[in-house]
Amino acid sequence: MSKLTLDGLTKKFDDNVVVDNLNLSIEEGEFVSLLGPSGCGKSTTLRMISGFIQPNQGEISIDGQNITKLPPNKRDTSLVFQNYALFPHMTIADNVGYGLKMRKVNKQEIEQRVNDMLKMVRLDHLKDRFPGQLSGGQQQRVALARALVVNPSVLLLDEPLSNLDAKLRDEMRSEILNLQLKFNLTCIFVTHDQEEALVLSDKVVVMDSGHIRQIGTPREIFDSPNSHFTADFVGVRN
Ligand code: ADP
Ligand code: MG
Repeated sequence: MSKLTLDGLTKKFDDNVVVDNLNLSIEEGEFVSLLGPSGCGKSTTLRMISGFIQPNQGEISIDGQNITKLPPNKRDTSLVFQNYALFPHMTIADNVGYGLKMRKVNKQEIEQRVNDMLKMVRLDHLKDRFPGQLSGGQQQRVALARALVVNPSVLLLDEPLSNLDAKLRDEMRSEILNLQLKFNLTCIFVTHDQEEALVLSDKVVVMDSGHIRQIGTPREIFDSPNSHFTADFVGVRN
């Protein structure tokens, strides 16, 4: 059985269909990139999977169980937002512990799990600071820690590296891959950067205007693009 299945997933804003009948299966432990130009529906897809918005049609399943109607904190998913979206008035520790508090985990356990997670991303020395006192790369690691502390089985990453400089981006790539292996996470990584998708993923899903154009390994997408759109987008010229 697949870890995550999208079946006919569709989202309209007014009359504008931004995600159109998406069908996709992802296996446990797979790292999948959603690759496509700005506005093609990538973030909307992640927001539906994480439960922040409801699809107009279609079904989302995890381990064969239909989760389409469940609220975000009742799903086995975590979303890392594009702009980190840390709470500015809360300390780093409270930011990371937020999801556990929402899940009514007791205080002592929250403290323990937050400390362990902050150690893992090497930020335990900053736990009493506020987000505004941290660099972009540090804030992004806090956002990752906050997503992982609830033990999600599916991690959703919305362009997590796009605000970082090149050196930090390389570091974060390794960090994400290490954490993925450690927790055997199923990851969906949204990006408009073809190189990033090709380097990181087991499987690449190429999206265009709310549709899936092609699904394949990075090699398949790169060596055998099935359309002009994909060829142009991954930079292959025939
Ligand atoms: P991507 O993440 O691929 O850049 P999005 O999923 O953010 O694309 O957006 C897809 C399309 O849906 C865009 O045209 C965007 O303007 C539109 N859209 C996204 N969110 C909303 C919303 N809340 N209301 C109306 N239109 C939206
Ligand atoms: Mg987006």
